[in-house]
Amino acid sequence: MYTNIFKRRTCGRFLEKSFCYLLIFVINPSFFIFEILVVRPIVVKTYNLSQYKHVFHIMCSTFCFINIIGNMMLCILTGTSLKGTVCSDSYCAQCETNRPAAAWHCATCNTCVLRRDHHCFFLSRCIGLQNQRYYILYVGYLFIALGYSTYYNYYYILTKFEDDDLYLSVFRVLNPLLRYVTPEPLAMKELYVLFLFLNSGLVIWSGVLFWFHMRNVFRGVTAREYKHSRGVAWVEMKKNFVSVFGTRWYWAILWPLADSPLPTGGIKYD
Ligand SMILES: [Zn+2]
Ligand SMILES: [Zn+2]
Repeated sequence: MYTNIFKRRTCGRFLEKSFCYLLIFVINPSFFIFEILVVRPIVVKTYNLSQYKHVFHIMCSTFCFINIIGNMMLCILTGTSLKGTVCSDSYCAQCETNRPAAAWHCATCNTCVLRRDHHCFFLSRCIGLQNQRYYILYVGYLFIALGYSTYYNYYYILTKFEDDDLYLSVFRVLNPLLRYVTPEPLAMKELYVLFLFLNSGLVIWSGVLFWFHMRNVFRGVTAREYKHSRGVAWVEMKKNFVSVFGTRWYWAILWPLADSPLPTGGIKYD
């Protein structure tokens, strides 16, 4: 029985890590390259964008891409494990070690994590005190980049359709039965519509995720405590915000490599 649980856990971790590598090295860069090399030239040519706008868009998209990849990598590389920590607050039977009061055990990572928020499947890591800043900024920039790309993808896809074909295609994707009553063929073009749907769905998903985590940050709670959280005063909100993004938060939100130390004294280590 234990061997089965171990095998299932190892298999789960393997899948999680494979997806994580796929996201970092294939999906994210491919999406960026597609937007820069395929969508950008068509949009610039069709809608006659000025050179200033053109350069501005290249800068904005590169800035978003650097922040997405940078925060993602740093979120993964920042160690959150408490193994080997010497403290005396409570005992974790799984880790067989003493841990601070503000730490919880993660069954997937098989370690205790300080101020553990949740285990992220996409990054194959636990999100805790040390890497929460990178995680939230990763989700935030993902939301901005997806919203930005959806807007331009819409104009790009519009160039592939004539007259009202796009709207007809949208209805046909929403209700496949319309294929029997509307004239054929749109076929391949409907893949563009599906792509736009996926793009829009991801904007909503990342937006909700970002809003949920930012609300928890301001309220000073983790994802597992959010149900019992309440609104707090402005001073408290600012303190909670700094406890996640660090004392130099204004640089942290702009650049993943910016040094922004977490304030000491908020969390009890020993
Ligand atoms: Zn533990
Ligand atoms: Zn974990």
